[in-house]
Amino acid sequence: MQHPVIPQAYLDKVTPLLGDEATLRTFIDYCQRPLRRSIRVNTLKITLPDFTERAQKQGWQLEAVPWCKEGFWLQRPAEQENLPLGNTAEFLAGMFYIQEASSMLPPVALLAGESGTTDISRVLDMAAAPGSKTTQLSASMNNQGLLVANELSSSRLKVLNASLQRMGAMNVAMSHFEGQVFGQWLPEGFDAVLLDAPCGGEGTVRKDPLALQNWSEAALHKLAAVQKELMDSAFHALRPGGVLVYSTCTLSVEENQQVVNALLNRYPQALVVESLAGLFDGADKAVTPEGYLHVWPQLFDSEGFFVARLRKTQSRLRPERQKRTGKFPYVPAARQQTDEICHYLQRTFGLVLPEQHRLFKRDNDFWLFPSPLLEWMGQFRFDRMGIKLVTAHRQGFRLTHEAAIALGKQAVTGRYELSPEQLESYYQGKDLFVEVPPPQGELLLMFAGCAVGLGKGLNNRIKNSLPRDLVRDGRLVGWV
Ligand code: SAM
Repeated sequence: MQHPVIPQAYLDKVTPLLGDEATLRTFIDYCQRPLRRSIRVNTLKITLPDFTERAQKQGWQLEAVPWCKEGFWLQRPAEQENLPLGNTAEFLAGMFYIQEASSMLPPVALLAGESGTTDISRVLDMAAAPGSKTTQLSASMNNQGLLVANELSSSRLKVLNASLQRMGAMNVAMSHFEGQVFGQWLPEGFDAVLLDAPCGGEGTVRKDPLALQNWSEAALHKLAAVQKELMDSAFHALRPGGVLVYSTCTLSVEENQQVVNALLNRYPQALVVESLAGLFDGADKAVTPEGYLHVWPQLFDSEGFFVARLRKTQSRLRPERQKRTGKFPYVPAARQQTDEICHYLQRTFGLVLPEQHRLFKRDNDFWLFPSPLLEWMGQFRFDRMGIKLVTAHRQGFRLTHEAAIALGKQAVTGRYELSPEQLESYYQGKDLFVEVPPPQGELLLMFAGCAVGLGKGLNNRIKNSLPRDLVRDGRLVGWV
């Protein structure tokens, strides 16, 4: 690993926060250690017992992350260690997300103690890409309710979209605005808001040795000003009684405690801090006097992180501002179309339409939108809502790749289990030739019980329907 650049000005800044010389030395020592690899199991696609059993067979050693029951530090056998985890069959099949352990904290803090979909049916992830926390929230919500995932950067929005599809997230609506708009455009519209803010990234030096190279006080203050604006918007977007989590992967007080405290000082009657001291066994090591978690890298041998949890206790409305809604090109699917689609899904895959979603049509495509979204339709411009379920063609309908990924687990017919070799050919975009003819017609291709996409049985061949942009040349690694 390249030695991290830690400017003296930065050390001068953190020394008083760390307290004494010995802690400073430990901090520097940990900043120089390679980061432990961690993953989060995607329970939308595989159960924890099934995943751990599979991992054991691979020789993967899993150590539980204490604050996230789906999170594990991972050690692979020596011969696999240098092979990219992102090329494993398990990764491509959406069984897990590669996520730094401390980054699993904010979604856990947001949903801790909230009773699932009854209290929390509308969640906002205000700065969402590349989607580690969005996919974590979606899985924790069990694909129910509505999760709005907003991101300012267009290129990162594309990555977010790819993550959502791979992981089978169906309850997400993406948007592409400055987070600053939510407070006025959807005032008090959310039960929970996560602001995982753009930040100086001081805690990420173990992953990115150059993270601190351009560190400066001026940059830090500029970021803090944006964070305060985003916090104000997050506060106004939250309904009274709702919960707000603020998090960063940086360590400075200016971007963390001071941002939260600024909001508390602004609305002292309308907000309370909820201490995170009891979030998990050992959280007390990281807790600040205010009840926030300030995770130094040396505390849990992780990246640095900051998390605060607030509850809104009173309404505070601001005058609404003109929204940019744009055109809304979808119409609710007609009764007859809905019936035909239900019939097609039932007949071909033994699938039923998920109850918490509504079917909409745009041109020849039918989309499943999370139903809490209906209230906001036409009032707010979302980039992509829910999932595209089927496309109509002359002879009927065709399930889409993304719907196959998200719903395939529930299918009872039309499933075809691939061997590891067949899976590799499938991801390489090749047709599969098999000795025993597969069931003819549309097939849901499965790997270890996870839906990976679609094919079509034609005599002894399975025609490959993997979207071209997902085709990859490389070999898969890590299977048994
Ligand atoms: N939550 C993400 C995850 O866990 O994968 C990481 C988010 S990253 C810390 C912060 C994100 O905020 C970046 O993707 C950045 O492009 C985005 N961003 C920057 N300014 C923003 C703004 N004003 N509104 C919304 N997003 C913004």
